[in-house]
Parts: sequence; C-alpha cells; structure tokens
Amino acid sequence: MNKDNIQELWSKLPDKELDCKDWIKRVLMFDPINVPKLFSVKQYQRRQIVSVLDLFPVNGNLCGCGCGQEVKKPKRRWATEECELFAVNVRFIIAGHTATISKFMRRYYGWNCAKCGCEDKGHDMGANGSVSWIKVDHIIPVKLGGGSCWLSNYQLLCHDCHVGKTNNDFNWKQSNQIKIFSTEYLNQTNHEQRTG
Ligand SMILES: [Zn+2]
Ligand SMILES: [Zn+2]
Repeated sequence: MNKDNIQELWSKLPDKELDCKDWIKRVLMFDPINVPKLFSVKQYQRRQIVSVLDLFPVNGNLCGCGCGQEVKKPKRRWATEECELFAVNVRFIIAGHTATISKFMRRYYGWNCAKCGCEDKGHDMGANGSVSWIKVDHIIPVKLGGGSCWLSNYQLLCHDCHVGKTNNDFNWKQSNQIKIFSTEYLNQTNHEQRTG
C-alpha cells in the first residue's frame, strides 16, 4: 500500500445512481469537506463528540440543513421532516454511530464484502429482523488516525477479511506510511482551524 492508495478521510462518496428516498440520497452524497473545521476532531477515537448544531448552525429564518427553504411557523429549525432526518443522520455518521454507518453503507454498497465479494448470508432472517455477519471497517484504522472521518473511510468486510485486514494494518511498512499521512493531515487541519 502506498500513499496514493490512502483514501482521504473527508472525501465525498462517488456519485452513483441510488434507488432510495431523496433525504437518504442527500446523506450519501453529502460533501464533508468543511466538517473538520466545525468541531474538535479526535482522530484516534472512534466516537466523536459533535452536535447537530455544530454541523448545521442556525441560519436566520432559513432551514438549518442548508436546503435554502424558509422555515414557517410552527416549525422552528427545519423546513421539513426530511431536512431534519438528513441533518440528524449526518451527525450520527460523523459521531461514529456504527448502526447508522452500517445502514447507509449498505444502501450505497449493497450486502457484499468489499474485499472477497462474498455475500452477507446472515441478513435475511425473516420477521424477527436482520442479523449481519459483515462488519463496518475503518479503511485507515482508528489507531493510525482514521477515527474521525466520513463514510469514504469505511468499508464493509466479512469476518475473515476483517481479521486478515486487522493483522495487515499493523505491519511496519503500512503503519509507517499512514502515520506520515496522518501527521500531514493533522497539521493541515490545525492550521485551518487557527487561521479560519
Ligand atoms: Zn432543509
Ligand atoms: Zn470477505
């Protein structure tokens, strides 16, 4: 793995045809480029302390989600229920809420392991709900600075691939390169926070 292969922590997912509700599409196509400037990111933690208000500040009488619609009474902060669902779910993802991340990753990538392509045989368990064998994995691991990130730093892996990757992530060569990347990223983010 070289530096070119290391995915940006805060890049947008690639545009894609999606068969789902508009607000779900808005979550998946959210551009997180400015997010690291909005709260104190903890790169080496998997959960982040961040509020909906941090990410979607009050915007006069316009909807807090950034859709540009006016908020009409009795509504106070969001123009529609979908606006609120969008904002709340973006916040859950950035906070590192695994169930939410998993739900949106599946909407985008489907039910297969990103590495070997095997199917998640456990998902169809009938009326009692879903059981999943596939795990949400940080592409750049939390231990190496990938803890605070957008969906672009996650992938879905089966159990075997997940175990294999976890071992792989901590060999000297890869961890060394990722540390270089993380230090650069951290400096850049700190600089932007100081100056911006
Ligand atoms: Zn809105
Ligand atoms: Zn696999």
